[in-house]
Amino acid sequence: MARSFAQLALNAEKNKGSIAVAKEPIENPPLEIHTLGNKVLRQPAKRISKVDDSIRELVKNMLRSMYSAKGIGLAAPQVGIDKELLVIDLDLENPTTPPLVLINPKIISTSASLETYEEGCLSIPGVYLDVVRPAAIKISYRDEMGRPRKMNADGLTGRCIQHEMDHLNGVLFVDRVTSDEDLNRELKEHGFNRNHVNKI
Ligand SMILES: [Zn+2]
Repeated sequence: MARSFAQLALNAEKNKGSIAVAKEPIENPPLEIHTLGNKVLRQPAKRISKVDDSIRELVKNMLRSMYSAKGIGLAAPQVGIDKELLVIDLDLENPTTPPLVLINPKIISTSASLETYEEGCLSIPGVYLDVVRPAAIKISYRDEMGRPRKMNADGLTGRCIQHEMDHLNGVLFVDRVTSDEDLNRELKEHGFNRNHVNKI
């Protein structure tokens, strides 16, 4: 289904400052998403000192690549860029919901209660495994206009933020999988090397 650019533009106007990119796969995504085994995924990202047009352009290109891969989250290190930046969109079906853009995110607090949830990653395609994480978090970050913000997140949003923030520290969700048996089976099945996992 083709989506109306007029509607997107209208929405961009309504959510002034937000970044509107069509939630459609494109033929040649601007950024390549690296997969397990590539060293760039293990390099810690650096703080962004100035949120300017070049950062906003990077955000748009990350979104285009994420939508093209039908993902719900993407961190800059996955496209080989060592910046503390991630994008999330849990409402792919709705073109008017703006994506979440987190710049320099920091976890302020985590809930004592834990939750098990099945995760997947655009950098480890096909692999889905249970990971235990705090059920809720509070974070501080800057938005795409550089404004400081705080947010409480639980459920899928909280889960996704924690997964993407791990990427900023060179950590992948497979590092956190507790069941070795499941991990080895899934990796093998999808052609990944167990030696590329750094168990936490
Ligand atoms: Zn990931």
